[in-house]
Amino acid sequence: MNNAQFMKAVKACFGNLTENKVFLPEEAVEVPVLQEPLVGFASADDPLFDSYSDPQIIGPDFKEPCEWMPEARSVAVFFFPFTDEIRTRHGESAGPVDEAWNIGYGNHQKIVDTFVNSLASVLSEQGISSLAPAKDKSFRITPIPVMSGDEKDTHYSVSWSNRHAGFVAGLGTFGIHRHLITEKGCCGGFGSLILDCELSPTERRYEEVYEYCIKCGACTERCPVSAITLEHFRNLKKCSAYAGQVRETYGGMCGRCLAGIPCAHGIPSEA
Ligand code: SF4
Ligand code: SF4
Repeated sequence: MNNAQFMKAVKACFGNLTENKVFLPEEAVEVPVLQEPLVGFASADDPLFDSYSDPQIIGPDFKEPCEWMPEARSVAVFFFPFTDEIRTRHGESAGPVDEAWNIGYGNHQKIVDTFVNSLASVLSEQGISSLAPAKDKSFRITPIPVMSGDEKDTHYSVSWSNRHAGFVAGLGTFGIHRHLITEKGCCGGFGSLILDCELSPTERRYEEVYEYCIKCGACTERCPVSAITLEHFRNLKKCSAYAGQVRETYGGMCGRCLAGIPCAHGIPSEA
């Protein structure tokens, strides 16, 4: 299989997704949730994967593609931007949560998983083995207390990160909000597959980890609890505490730092 054939399978599986919509009771409308994914490819033995076990980046829990699957040759990473129906409502809402975001975000991972499973089945019919590490039962996440400036923070040592894999696969760079900024912005969901077939890696059009972030500070202003600063980026401890409260009170997800900002829909330096 080559990259073009892989992309044909991606398009077909995405086109066949009947689940890609949610009903908004307050507005009594049905809206689509995700756009067709951007896809980035990386070689399974890209040295950047090796660097991720550094505690300053991800940590010792991180497993390289060949540790997940010894026959790994490539990694495909999918970024699904939320539709304009979802992200525009979320960006314009006064908060703390917007119905479209709440329901759309709440359902998006199920939609991504359905897509990834259906693509894995199609590939399997063509003799290609694949594994979705973030969904594997051996996936691990270890919270580690750290300091960020003068404040307590939490670092998560994970055995796989779709966003970090997306960086390797040429999808984009991080912003100070710690989301990945792609050519279709940062407001979306991720999936990935490790594959036993050789595909051409996507060119990385950047060198620095935060290259696409213009440090405009818009995400710092969107955050209700000042969890993001230009000096120390997103404090995950502070963020999770507030996001947990929002979930308990409204049953929704905060995510205000994903919309209504210059990097929500594209790369700000190119806008
Ligand atoms: S809103 Fe501005 S500062 Fe925040 S991540 Fe995006 S580009 Fe960077
Ligand atoms: S998710 Fe909410 S609380 Fe967390 S950094 Fe973003 S805006 Fe702040």
